[in-house]
Amino acid sequence: MYHVIAAAPAGVAFPDLFVRPADFKGQMSWLAQHGYHAVTLHRVYDYWRDGSPLPSHPIVVSFDDGYLGQHTHALPVLRKLGWPGVLNLKVNALKSRYTLPPWRVRQMLAAGWELDAHTITHPDLTHVDDAQLWREVHGSRTALQHEFHVPVDFFCYPSGRYDDHVVAAVRRAGYLGATTTNYGLARPRDIYTLSRIRINGSDGVAVFARKLEGLGR
Ligand SMILES: [Zn+2]
Repeated sequence: MYHVIAAAPAGVAFPDLFVRPADFKGQMSWLAQHGYHAVTLHRVYDYWRDGSPLPSHPIVVSFDDGYLGQHTHALPVLRKLGWPGVLNLKVNALKSRYTLPPWRVRQMLAAGWELDAHTITHPDLTHVDDAQLWREVHGSRTALQHEFHVPVDFFCYPSGRYDDHVVAAVRRAGYLGATTTNYGLARPRDIYTLSRIRINGSDGVAVFARKLEGLGR
């Protein structure tokens, strides 16, 4: 799980959300050298559902919210490896040229990325009324489908916040699964509350490697 791919500006509130482009490149090289292959979440889902084949050591590289560096820095690194990313896009991030305007998202899709929903305004979904919950969960899916003509089959909870009521809305909206900020390996029994491995700006390649090796493979 990545957020901003850029150097953290001095004094920024959450510097660990920023991963330096050189660190990202080093982390992806580490994966390639250690036999990993990035795949979309949909391919993992297909494997879990009916055993559709996956490459050895499959890993999903996901990017939350929709930040400019995910296009300018992450896309070229992954493209060189022939790997897709998974973009968990907040719909409102399409509105600014400083985040991810539609033309940038289209280039990512053209490179094989998967587009998944991450609401419209990024609220804590456990604290909104039912009308807003549905607008954020279902409305974000239809907005992205309408704009990009791709399935948008997975959902990512803003700030990892969910409860049974939120999960029920995600299922009702037709998503096949959803990702959280719970730390660990994704497992099929948690298809609507999949864990991920958070990568922090302070990790560099060494801690990144330790996190992956610590989970076993
Ligand atoms: Zn987010």
